[in-house]
Amino acid sequence: MLKSGLNSNQSLKWMAKELKLRISYKFMKDCLFCKIVKGEVKTGVVLEAPKALAFKDINPVAAVHILIVPKKHIDTATSITSSDGADLVAMHQAAKKLVEKLKLTSYRLAYNGGKYQHVPHLHMHLLSGDQVQWDRL
Ligand code: 5GP
Ligand code: ZN
Repeated sequence: MLKSGLNSNQSLKWMAKELKLRISYKFMKDCLFCKIVKGEVKTGVVLEAPKALAFKDINPVAAVHILIVPKKHIDTATSITSSDGADLVAMHQAAKKLVEKLKLTSYRLAYNGGKYQHVPHLHMHLLSGDQVQWDRL
């Protein structure tokens, strides 16, 4: 069905835009880490910055296991674009502050993707401790 006042080409473009918006809205509404960012799901926040949030992993695989997320929803590492630069810097600045605050002399920063990524909102794992259970990450 054509939207009134539009030709078939314009109508198709309008429908595609509408569909994209609806899909992104549904995705955002259901995203666990977006809910944590908005405070709708409570968790152990350890650092908050204007563009990033860090909180303790609910199921730690190391003595220190913190998740650092951009407040803006980004799906995964391979969906990052040049417009996400400030968000990535904010995530790494949060990691630096935590490394200093917790006096971590050794640490690892890890991203999962594909079948290894369970929550589809970009997150960096900050891990420290000699007994990292990599097979559980
Ligand atoms: P992924 O496998 O996607 O790289 O990592 C997702 C991480 O999120 C897992 O380490 C998992 O334990 C953690 N996680 C899942 N649900 C929650 C939650 O509700 N709160 C917190 N703090 N961490 C969560
Ligand atoms: Zn999200």
